[in-house]
Amino acid sequence: MHRIFSYLTSNLQFLPDLFFPNCCIACGDELIPGEKQVCLSCLLSIPETHYEVVPQDNPVMDLFIGKTWITGAIAIYEYQKGGALQALVHALKYNNQPELGVLLGRFMGTKLQQGNIPLSEIQVILPIPLHPIRQRRRGYNQAERLATGIQQVTGIPVKPKLLTRIRATKTQTAKGKEERWNNVRNIFKIQGNIPQPCLLVDDIITTGATLEACMECLNAAGIRDIWVISLGTARISRGMTEVPKN
Ligand SMILES: [Zn+2]
Repeated sequence: MHRIFSYLTSNLQFLPDLFFPNCCIACGDELIPGEKQVCLSCLLSIPETHYEVVPQDNPVMDLFIGKTWITGAIAIYEYQKGGALQALVHALKYNNQPELGVLLGRFMGTKLQQGNIPLSEIQVILPIPLHPIRQRRRGYNQAERLATGIQQVTGIPVKPKLLTRIRATKTQTAKGKEERWNNVRNIFKIQGNIPQPCLLVDDIITTGATLEACMECLNAAGIRDIWVISLGTARISRGMTEVPKN
């Protein structure tokens, strides 16, 4: 018993995960009844972009205009380094938190309902696929979890199998523009008929290169009425050429 106690006290940093699962994923504070996974003050600390009000005229949409057929694109939250959203996205991707994805997806769905994307017309939600090997390692696709949350709020069906990834990509961070584009070309494949308009779901939009490659694949199959929604973006002003890595 003494040995177990000394082991635990020498590994104090792991104690919260072991004994206090009802803590906020972002700040570690204890959750109060009614809160799930994230505390209210962390949620309120994440700035909203309000791009859902202007889905065809915002800095995220600017990334794609003139490059691909697209109807509109938005991100819900501002992604700030060291902010609560960064902690949440990290937990979603690396700490086995699939339920957190569904929760954040529900917030996205609620924001969508308050915005100007014609939801009643949208036929299908398509999460941006992960490469199968990465998905197996992670246990789930975080974009698919977000999409499930959006489905729960809006009732629009999620069809994750219509769009697949046939090639993995290396990390985008250190690459130049052209190299980044070559890195993401021809990595997606369509399996079956995709009805229009469709809604693509991603977690964080940085350069937009992966989404652009995805839309190029859809465009080639005649799908042009495409809406894009992501949980967050660092792209909050127009004319930014580079954005911080996530
Ligand atoms: Zn918190």
